[in-house]
Amino acid sequence: MLIDRILYPIVTLGPGKRLVIWTVGCSKHCYNCANSELWAADNKKDITSQELFEKIIKLVDLKKVDGVTFTGGDPLEQFDELLELLELFHPFFSDILVYTGYTVDEARKITDDDKWRRFTELISVLIDGPYVDELNDNMCGLRGSTNQNIIYFNDAVKDRYTDYLSEGRKVQNIYYSNKMISVGIHRRKEDK
Ligand code: SF4
Repeated sequence: MLIDRILYPIVTLGPGKRLVIWTVGCSKHCYNCANSELWAADNKKDITSQELFEKIIKLVDLKKVDGVTFTGGDPLEQFDELLELLELFHPFFSDILVYTGYTVDEARKITDDDKWRRFTELISVLIDGPYVDELNDNMCGLRGSTNQNIIYFNDAVKDRYTDYLSEGRKVQNIYYSNKMISVGIHRRKEDK
């Protein structure tokens, strides 16, 4: 699986202190995408799901992780590898959020029915759809633009997300790879 970075604890991409994984590769090329450096697939960043999982459990105390978020890039462009990793994560995490630039109807056509059903059993929340710059209202929580939908596959997390969303958008600055990076849902570039 092509992975760019993994950061913990992140509080701006879902409720609680989360482990956030940025995948590499996205073919949607949305105008003003916040992570365009992750569009191109880079095979130097390839790691098997098992290796990745083993690295994470060595470095992070899983009991302290409140949830996992996959973003990118588009994690669903590596659907089979993502599914493998989700199988490994699922016993440890009851809240897994996945972002994708596909709409949910497009996403379910990228794989077969069995794999899609399993995917929806393993994750709690999917946030779907491309980023549409003119629909970035600088307010909608957890989403870059209002066309995107928060789709729950596990109703048990709904209250937590509702509370979190009521707090509005959040951005967190992190020192990473010798520079300060800003993690979260950002304002439209021309409105910054
Ligand atoms: S789908 Fe997401 S990562 Fe891909 S171009 Fe659009 S905003 Fe960027």
